[in-house]
Amino acid sequence: MSRGTLIDLLYLVSATTFILALKGLGSPKRARMGNIIAAVGMLIAVVATFFKQVDGHNLNHVPLILIAMAIGIVVAVPTARYVRMTAMPQLVAIFNGVGGGAAALVSITEFVHIHSTRPATYVTLEVLLGVLIGTVSFSGSAIAFAKLQELMTGRPVTYPGQQILNAIFGLAGLVIIIIILVTGQTLLLWILLILAFILGIAFVLPIGGADVPVLISLLNSFTGLAVAASGFTLGSNLLIVAGTLVGASGILLTRLMSKAMGRSLSNVLFSAFGSVITAAAGGADQRPVRSGSPEDAAVLLSFASRVAIIPGYGLAVAQAQHVLRELAEELEAKGIEVFYAIHPVAGRMPGHMNVLLAEANVPYEQLLELDEANSEIQTADVALVVGANDTVNPAAKDDKTSPIYGMPIINADMAENVLFFKRSMRPGFAGIENELLYNPKTTLVFGDAKDTLTKIVAAVKAS
Ligand code: NDP
Repeated sequence: MSRGTLIDLLYLVSATTFILALKGLGSPKRARMGNIIAAVGMLIAVVATFFKQVDGHNLNHVPLILIAMAIGIVVAVPTARYVRMTAMPQLVAIFNGVGGGAAALVSITEFVHIHSTRPATYVTLEVLLGVLIGTVSFSGSAIAFAKLQELMTGRPVTYPGQQILNAIFGLAGLVIIIIILVTGQTLLLWILLILAFILGIAFVLPIGGADVPVLISLLNSFTGLAVAASGFTLGSNLLIVAGTLVGASGILLTRLMSKAMGRSLSNVLFSAFGSVITAAAGGADQRPVRSGSPEDAAVLLSFASRVAIIPGYGLAVAQAQHVLRELAEELEAKGIEVFYAIHPVAGRMPGHMNVLLAEANVPYEQLLELDEANSEIQTADVALVVGANDTVNPAAKDDKTSPIYGMPIINADMAENVLFFKRSMRPGFAGIENELLYNPKTTLVFGDAKDTLTKIVAAVKAS
């Protein structure tokens, strides 16, 4: 077998592992294995590439490539290892942006190379699309990162004529691409690059912080397309397969997330959701609520026979997943049945709650998805809402004027009693009032979720 055939075979193995990895990532049980399979596949691809020959020549600039890889490893490994779970969306944003930028650089290099070796009009469409899409993904992801990291306002930044201007930028990009293809003008490439950079920023500015995770999934899909374009440019089937997989899965995830929020993708991208602060967000509602102590909550839980735990973003903020699992075990030891009701957009990224609870070794069988959870919750004596808010807000069902109207929610209000753990009357990410807080069934236990749960565990143990 020739060296070239062996390398092609290794690339095929690598592409297959990427497909298997995606399959693994489809379930919390197999997600870790899916990740490992993808990493092994990537390692095979990288090592094989070092032995690849192009036009009979070995890989050039190996020391430089190794230095670049070493820098990447030194930056990325500690960042990924020590990132807080709550900061995961911004990490994904920045890593995704770097991927898009890399794809754009490959296309630029290829453009320059073509120009120095072949007729000017030899430049192909995929090279230019790689520059456009990769750069949009790079600058857009950088703004998404800045919003989530609170380096700039997380609220939508809007100005008159914004969408029209963005459409003009997009059209101008396509026109420039056509002119370059016809005339081979080099200078226009740099104008395309600047335009794509501005377009990425302008596209992301009007999207509010709550919608940025959906946007990141879309930008991830863009990066996939840019990588696939690089694959065509470099004649690499592996890059085409890997890029297409990222592009397709990114767009599917984007649609799933929009659907789980009860909104269309165009509403997420163009409605500047989150720019209006409601009365509740401003703390104007003075209606009384019923509040209790952790000890009161412990008594209510101890007398229950079925408890539905509804985790949300606040669980991740408080890092209370371990003590929550401890509480569930204490209740089970008393013969109380416990299950977790998982909303698909609870937290700030897809699968956030699954990852968090898996980290605390909560058995997968106890995690019920939305529909199943809602059919079980009616028989629960207590719905224990830990740091969730929008995902249990009945306005999504009852209030046609609410911005979250139509979003499927966990029906906590169908349980016999509701225990609500949060620190204040502040709203959740959507910035809207939650009627469930005022429901006569509801008892609010104010405080950090970890502190509250720790006190409850002690009280349950002592009872
Ligand atoms: P929310 O953001 O609606 O609410 C979080 C709640 O946690 C708040 O009420 C907050 O109240 C409370 N909280 C915060 N910190 C603590 C703490 N330390 N201890 C106790 N409570 C705390 O969360 P949900 O998970 O219900 O909803 C997720 C939202 O994010 C939805 O609007 C969803 O659409 C959106 N989203 C999710 C995405 C995903 O992929 N998962 C993607 C994009 C958007 P207080 O400040 O009073 O403590």
